[in-house]
Amino acid sequence: RMIDAAAASPQESVAERALRPQLLDDYVGQARVREQLDIFIGAARGRAEALDHVLLFGPPGLGKTTLAHIVAREMGVNLRSTSGPVLERAGDLAALLTNLERNDVLFIDEIHRLSPVVEEILYPALEDYQIDILIGEGPGARSVKIDLQPFTLVGATTRAGMLTNPLRDRFGIVARLEFYTAEELARIVRRSAGLLGAAIDDDGANEIARRARGTPRIANRLLRRVRDYAEMKSGGQISAAVADAALRMLDVDPLGFDLMDRKLLEAVVHRFDGGPVGLDNLAAAIGEERDTIEDVIEPYLIQQGYLQRTPRGRIATAATYAHLGLAAPQRPGG
Ligand code: ADP
Repeated sequence: RMIDAAAASPQESVAERALRPQLLDDYVGQARVREQLDIFIGAARGRAEALDHVLLFGPPGLGKTTLAHIVAREMGVNLRSTSGPVLERAGDLAALLTNLERNDVLFIDEIHRLSPVVEEILYPALEDYQIDILIGEGPGARSVKIDLQPFTLVGATTRAGMLTNPLRDRFGIVARLEFYTAEELARIVRRSAGLLGAAIDDDGANEIARRARGTPRIANRLLRRVRDYAEMKSGGQISAAVADAALRMLDVDPLGFDLMDRKLLEAVVHRFDGGPVGLDNLAAAIGEERDTIEDVIEPYLIQQGYLQRTPRGRIATAATYAHLGLAAPQRPGG
């Protein structure tokens, strides 16, 4: 999948870091989240205290990692970064926690994937800046309390509903990131083009923005591909026409849907008669993981009104049929 919003390759990660805004003022969109963080960071700094723990949730590529780095920078502290699946043993987390300096930020990506034993260690750390660790084995083993420096946990997850209640309750600040508007994405594209030294006009930026699935990571990725295309085909100038030609070549359709989006919509319409179809059947039909559908593919389709989630499964909408060039079936009562 070429334009996936999820995990980046190593080259991608380097490219992404170069485009990452460093300060809250450079962070485009998400006005409510930015305003909240601005106030809470200012207050915590004024009292020379650690910021409250922050939970960020929303689909991949919307800027959760970027915000975690910004929080650390605005607080004037270090950031240590890890992820739920990487922390296998309680000791892995204990080692990280005991190395934190006063008011540092610990960023845990995919925090919903922490193992239960690791999560247990986290509770007293979050609440009292203390951990209990077990020293030794068998009958001689004893539990030792270790004091930690005050710190801020920034947790990121694609779905807040996947966190256990006790973990979720320990975050003082909970923020949901929303899909970006085309105007916001156009600002991100213009800023990134400036950093990359790419020549793009406003219409070119708007064309990429409209077709980036509401997601900054995808906007930046499309920009890099369109820039390659422009360098080979139009002397490097990115206009709307050049962007359109490049995006067509990448199988990104006029609504910004990619091959996998269309495969999913076509499956709902053609194989399941417009639905309702359950997630597992849909996953089997298109050969994708259930989680990928739920986290990466469907949130944007649902937000845009091309898929509906009902208690009985996913269903196609009139817009789905129109986009696929089909007549919508007559439904009873509809
Ligand atoms: P997530 O952690 O939610 O998957 P990231 O924080 O890694 O997403 O964001 C992906 C890329 O998108 C970043 O490298 C950054 O360049 C860009 N980006 C994300 N949010 C913004 C924003 N609000 N303003 C500008 N660029 C952004």
